[in-house]
Amino acid sequence: MSKIENTYDVLIAGTGVAGLCCALNLPRDMRILLLSKSTADRSDSFLAQGGICMLRDEGDFESYFEDTMRAGHYENDEAAVRLMIQSSPSMIEDLVRAGVEFARDERGEFRFTREGGHSRPRILYHDDVTGKEITSKLLARVQALPNVELRENSELVDILAGPDGCCGGVVRENVAGKLYDVCAEFTLLATGGVGGLYEHSTNYRHLTGDALAIALKHGVPVEHLDYVQIHPTTFYSQKQGRRFLISESVRGEGAVLLDKHGKRFCNELLPRDIVTGEIRAQMRKDGTDHVWLDMRPVGEETLRVHFPTICAHCREEGYDVLRQPVPVVPAQHYFMGGIRVDLDGRTGMPRLFAAGETACNGVHGKNRLASNSLLESLIWAKRAAAIMQAERGRWRGAAPQVSHAEYENYAALKEKYATMVREEAEREECID
Ligand SMILES: Cc1cc2nc3c(=O)[nH]c(=O)nc-3n(C[C@H](O)[C@H](O)[C@H](O)COP(=O)(O)OP(=O)(O)OC[C@H]3O[C@@H](n4cnc5c(N)ncnc54)[C@H](O)[C@@H]3O)c2cc1C
Repeated sequence: MSKIENTYDVLIAGTGVAGLCCALNLPRDMRILLLSKSTADRSDSFLAQGGICMLRDEGDFESYFEDTMRAGHYENDEAAVRLMIQSSPSMIEDLVRAGVEFARDERGEFRFTREGGHSRPRILYHDDVTGKEITSKLLARVQALPNVELRENSELVDILAGPDGCCGGVVRENVAGKLYDVCAEFTLLATGGVGGLYEHSTNYRHLTGDALAIALKHGVPVEHLDYVQIHPTTFYSQKQGRRFLISESVRGEGAVLLDKHGKRFCNELLPRDIVTGEIRAQMRKDGTDHVWLDMRPVGEETLRVHFPTICAHCREEGYDVLRQPVPVVPAQHYFMGGIRVDLDGRTGMPRLFAAGETACNGVHGKNRLASNSLLESLIWAKRAAAIMQAERGRWRGAAPQVSHAEYENYAALKEKYATMVREEAEREECID
């Protein structure tokens, strides 16, 4: 039997925007343990290119709502969508207060860009590295907090579940392979997406849906594990590893998709799942394993100023975007399903919360509207923090003593967890 070596008020698994935002919004007298499976800067939040949505003015509310619902095939939870949109201006204020810089015009007003599925520009951005700008600033703030302990290469392999709910987790220190228990009044699962379970994905390979498997193991309700978004345009490559994303905002700014004869074959600004379907159909028709993206209509100035990272990556791969189209192919990108949570990030187990890509609050429905996910992750993490603060001190129980035998064989554990997630996704797909 293990013994509890660590006691905190809050255990947070994940250092993407969701985990960081929760930590920042908890009161300074709550002791927090923050876990990162890899190093703290290796999260998908760092990779976000396009930007983050914001309600520009009340006049845009209905249009933003409708765009989100239409992209989600009207399977979205309307209350969740309204909440996200209404909360967006104050969340952006929080980010600006945290030092995040967004593109601005000569008068100092925000500049907005547009992506597929949006009927007007409402996306804030920082060049083509918006995620890095936001997440690095939040991470720096968290690292300066005396009440937060950050442990890198430390993986949540299970939660501690007692008769009255969650009371912490089992952690594996991934360098030495040491296992230990952490007792906490509240636990937040913020472990990101599932791209590591797919051969071709834009996600970091270590994001393997761990929290989903843990939830399934304990009977915590999950939903729509089969709702996986494929991004239409990732750079086509035969190399191993993560696929490089070519942001939708490049198409929002005028880039066009071409078939093998150099002809346009679809409306590039339709929602992602529809553009992906059109590309796949075109590849089948042409007998090719990619199509082409021509960024020249965007114009040299915008490409250089707004998309420097994309231009540089294509150049490294041997393509000059100012002179020629680049090969692109759809790849796994985002996960709309997840651990079912309410409007405050509560899961079906007392004192267990989830936020970010691993959670399903219903905002995205069957398909996410571009640039809604950073926003949604931040808002639900902040709301979860508010509930933890309001309900702190009520739990008087003790964490159960658990055997670590089932976690000793790490490779077998990971295989078991991956299989659980895949099987549940397949089962849900059959029901749909
Ligand atoms: C290439 C790319 C571009 C994107 N562009 C945009 C965009 O422009 N706008 C937008 O809104 N969204 C975008 N997204 C989606 C968005 O980045 C993610 O949905 C969002 O960042 C998810 O944040 P998160 O905090 O839930 O997870 P992540 O940022 O993925 O962080 C997950 C964290 O959990 C940790 N972790 C995983 N498993 C465990 C475990 N078992 N124990 C402990 N820690 C664990 C990881 O180490 C990591 O720290 C993009 C995604 C990608 C991949």
